[in-house]
Amino acid sequence: MSVVITIDGPAASGKSSIARLVAKRLGYIFVGTGNMYRAFTWAVLHRGMDPDDAAAVIADLPSIVFECPILDGQTHVRLDGHDLAADQLNSDAVNAAVSLIARIPEVRARLVADQRALIRLGSLVMEGRDIGSVVFPDSPYKIYIDASEEVRATRRRAQGQTDNLAERDRMDKARQSSPLVIPDGATIIDNSAITLEEAVNQVLDALRSKKLPDLSAGTANDPNTTAAPPH
Ligand code: C5P
Repeated sequence: MSVVITIDGPAASGKSSIARLVAKRLGYIFVGTGNMYRAFTWAVLHRGMDPDDAAAVIADLPSIVFECPILDGQTHVRLDGHDLAADQLNSDAVNAAVSLIARIPEVRARLVADQRALIRLGSLVMEGRDIGSVVFPDSPYKIYIDASEEVRATRRRAQGQTDNLAERDRMDKARQSSPLVIPDGATIIDNSAITLEEAVNQVLDALRSKKLPDLSAGTANDPNTTAAPPH
């Protein structure tokens, strides 16, 4: 039976890097949901729309053709049949607008449906803001990754990006629809002062203590599967 490991946390907390490695060690599919919200934000900006005009964004949603195929064991984001590149998803403009788009309930409903549908493809490590609280609240395997504001800002600067982390976190925690919270039952791991490898090992230890079944014997996930038809 497939399982979902949920990994939530604030911006630039290291959760994507940790989640990706945990997925690799376990042979699970890695799902980064931040890129899904970033893809919708890119589409809105590309169409010249105001990301603060929720009514206009909602009206345009049906015309956004979005897919999240699995390639090499992880989800990719595709708009109108084209893969979006990392520099498009992580542009300064997208960083500045993504929390505005992510607070729109209609956007969330659509992406949460896609995220839940991925379980039919196999066991998942899914990271985001609402994975343990809303997307898969019944998962027994919940992790919350944190790091100090200073460490997070330093990491983001090292990536050469302009990203107002404090403002994004403020909006993500304050929104009405699925705010960032520490999910009930989550193990909190602060990786401010430990290496990536140590953080991955702490996550794996926490999952073992939550009695994650040993899947080394099987549950083969097909690394190249198209997740959902475009819609
Ligand atoms: O994880 P990342 O920083 O790429 O996420 C970008 C933004 O997407 C977040 O600041 C948040 O507004 C939104 N997001 C969300 N729910 C998720 C994942 C990301 O609201 N599950």
